[in-house]
Amino acid sequence: MIEEHITSTDDFSDILFEEYQQEQQQQLEESIAQYETLQALASKPLVICAKCHQSPYAPSPLHPGIYQCASCQHQIQSKTFDAVCYTLERHAADCPGSVGLGVDASDPSYLLGMCPTCDLWELFY
Ligand SMILES: [Zn+2]
Ligand SMILES: [Zn+2]
Repeated sequence: MIEEHITSTDDFSDILFEEYQQEQQQQLEESIAQYETLQALASKPLVICAKCHQSPYAPSPLHPGIYQCASCQHQIQSKTFDAVCYTLERHAADCPGSVGLGVDASDPSYLLGMCPTCDLWELFY
């Protein structure tokens, strides 16, 4: 009887230990994912909100694939964000001016990028 009891306690602590390990592993994966998100953000230019010009767009924690302004909650699709990033990077390589972003008056989900220095005019949607 006593031996059985000990065995079952060992099994139980094994299970606890496995759960603990899985939890640790999960936490590790989560922090790696967070780190990768930060790294991905760090390698991209900041895209300041086209609507309020207060905060940069950041990935929305609630809506995957959406980037959101922390100040006015303006949202853009990640493909729009990527297109803006691409244009900003390409533009910075051959123009000293800076691209001003704005929201298209007819549809606020469209962003306009304009640079007066090189006459850039681009619509992102
Ligand atoms: Zn904003
Ligand atoms: Zn320019």
